[in-house]
Amino acid sequence: MPLDPRRTVAELEELRALTGDEDGAHRVAWTETWERARAWLREKLAGAGVAEEVDEAGNQWFTLPGASERAVLIGGHIDSVPNGGWLDGALNVLAGVEVVRRIAEEGSPPVTVRLVNWADEEGARFGRSLFGSSAAAGSMADQDELRQLTDRDGIELPAALADHGVDLDSALEARRQLESAAAYLELHIEQGPVLESLDLPLGVVLGTFGVERHRITWRGQAAHAGSTPMAQRRDALAGAAKLALEIRDIAKRTGDGAVCTSGGVVCKPGIVTSVVETAEQLLDQRHLHAGKLASMLDQAREASERFAAEERVDVEWERIWSIEPILFDETLLGFCEEAILEVAGTSHRLPSGPLHDAAEVARAGVPTVMLFVQSLRGLSHTKLEDTKPEHLELAVAALDRLTANTIVWVAGGGGR
Ligand SMILES: [Zn+2]
Repeated sequence: MPLDPRRTVAELEELRALTGDEDGAHRVAWTETWERARAWLREKLAGAGVAEEVDEAGNQWFTLPGASERAVLIGGHIDSVPNGGWLDGALNVLAGVEVVRRIAEEGSPPVTVRLVNWADEEGARFGRSLFGSSAAAGSMADQDELRQLTDRDGIELPAALADHGVDLDSALEARRQLESAAAYLELHIEQGPVLESLDLPLGVVLGTFGVERHRITWRGQAAHAGSTPMAQRRDALAGAAKLALEIRDIAKRTGDGAVCTSGGVVCKPGIVTSVVETAEQLLDQRHLHAGKLASMLDQAREASERFAAEERVDVEWERIWSIEPILFDETLLGFCEEAILEVAGTSHRLPSGPLHDAAEVARAGVPTVMLFVQSLRGLSHTKLEDTKPEHLELAVAALDRLTANTIVWVAGGGGR
């Protein structure tokens, strides 16, 4: 049977009915509903000639053996956030199912093809995203912190993992899964408004943004709101307010998708009758190019010094978290573009703001690419998440073309 993208849409609806309700999807990792989804996935591939294996980190692998052990991987995650959407992660997996079925029906492929359903991409229950893929990539370096994590009910992460047959101490042994990986492909909904605004169904993802997150503390002097003349104030909020506006210009000047967000400011004493003494500001900056990201950070720091001098307050920076930009493979970007042009006529290259499992696999040195399908209204992580069925079908067809070209490339010695 040839590729049947409509079957993917029907199966996504079936999964939605099985694991969701009027509040959205409930496939939170390490829960019964998530296991039900995994068992359902297993049934979908029964009889397709693939071998199933769950690795030490809980990742679910389906392997279609080829003439060579070198493998083309297709990845996704069937877990969702609570009250999540029907497509985030599940589309990737079910499109992969359809592609694997198509390849299996044509006989043994020249290279091995593997579909992976990553465990706990979302980190919804314990706050740690990309669990399974970071274990497989070997970049999981926070096992001591993971041991301390608890969910809302006080259940510890290691206990929750054990309930699903995963031992935290052994999770990194999942690394061997990537030993034979020659290339990695992932389809995902965009989760943003760019493709919709361009009226395009599909886009090639260049890589994932580098992120710089800082806490900026402004210190002035609390003083009476009635008795302190304007010229004599040392208002910590004034510095934070100037910076909150300045970062918009910094992002605009930098361009190429740059984004800067002042996500919150907490003021003390925080009462209506006092000038603000301390303002704690949160800043998130993202860019696809490391140099531009570093420059945005420099510009924000310089501006903060200037505003501190103007307002006669002190300013202090503290890094909360950062990650470098991860760029996808040039050859695979080309294949992805060809596949999209073939099925949709027009393509567009765009960066990804959110991180994905693909970023972990790319970090491990496996040539990687992602393709995005348009998200309606740019929404995800909500039951309102949606994509037109005809666009979902195009996405399945594009992933199939991309996989076919990648198999030929890897069979000819390309990839890792
Ligand atoms: Zn996702």
